[in-house]
Amino acid sequence: MKTFEDFKLSNPLRNAIQDLGFENPTPIQTEAFSVVLSGKDMVGIAQTGTGKTLGYMLPILQDLKFSKEPVLRVLVVVPTRELVIQVVEEIEKFSKYLSLRTLGVYGGTNINTQRKALAEGCDIIVATPGRFYDLTLSRVIQLKTVRKLVIDEVDVMLDLGFRFQLTNIFDLLPDRRQNIMFSATMTEDVEALINDFFIKPTKVSVALSGTPLDNISQQSYCVPNFYTKVNLLVHLLKDRELYNKVLIFVSNKRSADRLFAVLEEYYGEESCVIHSNKTQNYRIRSINQFDEGKNRILVATDVMARGLDLEKISHVVNFDTPPYPENYMHRIGRTGRAEQEGRSLLFYTEKEQQKKENIEALMNYKIPFIAFPSEIEISKRLTPEEQPEVKEINNPHKASLVEERGASFHEKSEKNSKENLGGSYRRIIEKKYKKPKTRGDKNYNKRNKRK
Ligand code: AMP
Repeated sequence: MKTFEDFKLSNPLRNAIQDLGFENPTPIQTEAFSVVLSGKDMVGIAQTGTGKTLGYMLPILQDLKFSKEPVLRVLVVVPTRELVIQVVEEIEKFSKYLSLRTLGVYGGTNINTQRKALAEGCDIIVATPGRFYDLTLSRVIQLKTVRKLVIDEVDVMLDLGFRFQLTNIFDLLPDRRQNIMFSATMTEDVEALINDFFIKPTKVSVALSGTPLDNISQQSYCVPNFYTKVNLLVHLLKDRELYNKVLIFVSNKRSADRLFAVLEEYYGEESCVIHSNKTQNYRIRSINQFDEGKNRILVATDVMARGLDLEKISHVVNFDTPPYPENYMHRIGRTGRAEQEGRSLLFYTEKEQQKKENIEALMNYKIPFIAFPSEIEISKRLTPEEQPEVKEINNPHKASLVEERGASFHEKSEKNSKENLGGSYRRIIEKKYKKPKTRGDKNYNKRNKRK
């Protein structure tokens, strides 16, 4: 185990830690320290309570050069004003023996008071995205000296509809900066944001403690494609007694709608779905009906299911294999609560095999494998994402195009080693036309709302 001594902290920091009475660094602090200090972009998967604030602040403060006048170098963006206040308090404790000025800015208070405070200069700003963006528009904040950007609780921030403000803030900041991000869960939106704005981020995560693995029986099936997974699920769900309360996880809205459409055909009234494109009322109704037992099947995305406190779930079905192992832990933790025996199934395709192995590595447990039942039909139908890319071989113009695209795609995947999920396209369109891409996009106002 590492100690604070191993970090070779400067005296002011060492003394501040001593005053706080912290004996040893927490796991996220140990892992994040050298990454943040190296100046590389970092994505941390950690929840509140893990000590993540000190995890990023300690190396940032260690690296911060002394400056006679306050110069803004560190920007920390968090989703709520409560968190701004809390983080400012923490930073003030850690930087007690350093001459630094930290300011918190958030909505719902007098903007002129904050303008005045900012005009006096500061080294670190902790802010909510909406208010910070408004302040930058009034040019009271000079951003060209910012070297470190920390975005905390990104999943919450995106769920609150702050993508627009965040991307605008990114655009205003100097290119030469380090990005540090924390999220409790990985979602498609979070991934899209990372792909668009981060450069080869190093991932740092801490395993969830207290995940009740002991009373969850886990099984896995290797299934060739989406619609064969559907066939398998429809088959299993026939046993109503065994599968009496089933929570099915998919990683995105598209898959949720696609799966729900088929389940409705077979299990009509018994099934329901929640994801963030559904209205609040629809979601509440679905959750209640599922929890009360009116519906036995609920299809949900990871973000939507976060925080749901559902009772007596007989099975969690991982319809796809989450790319981030921590999401699997969150998912299966929904079953097997309060001393009950829970069951979890994982459906994975060959393509998802590596993701499954990553999950197993995190748990240090190999998920028992069940042979694909021979009586189930293997579907030939493919989803648009599963279809192979069509290349026109005999068209000379197209051929060069394919080559060009191949090259840039390669660069992209090397750079980020992740799939671009199209977030930037939506951003560009929104910026250009100031309109939603689709009519009736109920999240449009939410996304563009200023705090
Ligand atoms: P956070 O996850 O950053 O919200 O931190 C949770 C709490 O843990 C805060 O009250 C910190 O002051 C405290 N804390 C942070 N690091 C340590 C440590 N190394 N030892 C003991 N407590 C800590």
